Amino acid sequence: MSKIQIFFSCPSVNYGARYRAETNLLDQEYEHDYSVYLSTVPCYLDSYIKIKNPTLYEDLTWSKISVNTWTQEQVVDYVNQHKCNVICFSVYNWNRPTIINLTRNLKSQINHDVIVIVGGPSIEAHGMYDWRQDYKDADYAVFSDGEQAFHDILSHHFYDRSLNILNTHNMLWVKNDQIQKAPAAYIKNTEYSPYLESQHLLQQMVGDPEYQGYEFELSYETSRGCPYSCSFCDWTSGLGPTTVKRKVDYRAELEMIAELGITQLHISDANFGQWPVDVEIARLMAEILPPRGIKTQSPNLSKNKKDRAYEILEIWIDAGVCDGGKFAVQDIDPTILANIDRPDISWEEHKKYIRHLKSRFPDRTFSLEGIKGLPGQTRKTWQHLLREAYQLNLCLEFYTWIIIPNSPAVYDPEYMKKFQIRTREIKSNKHSMISGSFSFNELDIAYFNFTQLTYKMLSWFGVTLDEFDEFNRNIPSLWEKKYFTKLLLTLYNSGSVSPRVVNQILREVFSDHALSVKYADCWQEFLHDSRVIHRGYHSAGIA
Ligand code: SF4
Repeated sequence: MSKIQIFFSCPSVNYGARYRAETNLLDQEYEHDYSVYLSTVPCYLDSYIKIKNPTLYEDLTWSKISVNTWTQEQVVDYVNQHKCNVICFSVYNWNRPTIINLTRNLKSQINHDVIVIVGGPSIEAHGMYDWRQDYKDADYAVFSDGEQAFHDILSHHFYDRSLNILNTHNMLWVKNDQIQKAPAAYIKNTEYSPYLESQHLLQQMVGDPEYQGYEFELSYETSRGCPYSCSFCDWTSGLGPTTVKRKVDYRAELEMIAELGITQLHISDANFGQWPVDVEIARLMAEILPPRGIKTQSPNLSKNKKDRAYEILEIWIDAGVCDGGKFAVQDIDPTILANIDRPDISWEEHKKYIRHLKSRFPDRTFSLEGIKGLPGQTRKTWQHLLREAYQLNLCLEFYTWIIIPNSPAVYDPEYMKKFQIRTREIKSNKHSMISGSFSFNELDIAYFNFTQLTYKMLSWFGVTLDEFDEFNRNIPSLWEKKYFTKLLLTLYNSGSVSPRVVNQILREVFSDHALSVKYADCWQEFLHDSRVIHRGYHSAGIA
């Protein structure tokens, strides 16, 4: 038979501007980045078939791994021209609206037989999901780990192997007009390296003429799953707290990756530092990445192995792998953390680690990361959080809670009811954000956003704690009317606060304010280049 030609698409960048805008992250960022985020999903799918079914593997070709946002016309032209017979879309929260549009009336424009597969963390894994309402022309919807499902779909179509709910896992399809749902299964792939086995696909992407001139970023996962089930999160598609570590030659993996020509390696484990071997991996990264100029972001570190997690962060900052650190706490109030089923050490214990790291690396930026719109949050808890963060001189990275289908909060109807959670659809991308709960309403959401913005400016000024408190205590009702409404509008239109609006609000609020007079130099700096406040915080600190 002729080769099976695969067209794989994971639209993650759009002319250099990453799709973060849709996931509400843009309010933290000011400048577009010009990088291509290489997808490692094809490596997982390809290596599984290579190991399990060498005969099928012989027949596979990955014609195109597309990580830019193409129009439907571009997809159709490519698939027709290259006679691709499998089209895969890798669906995440940020590219879901794009893929919904790409799959609408897609098949009728393809001039040969083709199967269309949608898969990824944004495919609902709970209940009998009719994916065709969203991805009109998709033949299969694959949820959670997709290796076996992908293999079984290809075996069914190209080798006549039977396909039924008893012999496959993690997918939905239609048979005799009935939706079939194969049960969920945890696919272990601990004994081999998808990166090494299918490195030719990574090389194919970096060599693709379409991506020349961009910088490359790559996600790197050394484990699978997460031992927790935080209510807002869809890790492992919300299918349970199983977790497993790959046992491979990490040095060989990292050396191969370092030769690809990437500039950023994103550690994508849910809890890096959970396993003792993670320290070894961290040391390998510290040895291998800096000579090639490769950096990594501050990763998601283990929640309950903090000594090890922060030892790793120190290794990376010392080696120049990481520029700073992030403390992903979601909130610092124990009741709120209990409401979202988030196990972690207490805030007082966190503070010891933060102080230690800040004294070790006084010129680095450290951030507190979390979510706005968690049940139990009030203006008072939020004020307390801001004050604590300000005292520790932390950058704030707090995002609005966008609900995602595979998160426990969504698939467990009791959860929403218990905390009286209300949602509102975002106009531009049809996601829903949390707009209220038993403890806050929409104006409070706007207040959280407003004070997060002004926190940036107050940090940039380096105001005293008394000034910080006074500013937040005395927010005029005029501001509440004017700016809160503006913020709510931008949230409901796009799910995030655009840098343009951030800039405008800060300029208006502080233009005549006593603090911008007192801190005139910083204010002038901001007026001349408002990006200064996005580049980091004063390192002096007031604590
Ligand atoms: S937020 Fe992190 S710790 Fe919680 S379930 Fe998701 S990945 Fe796991």
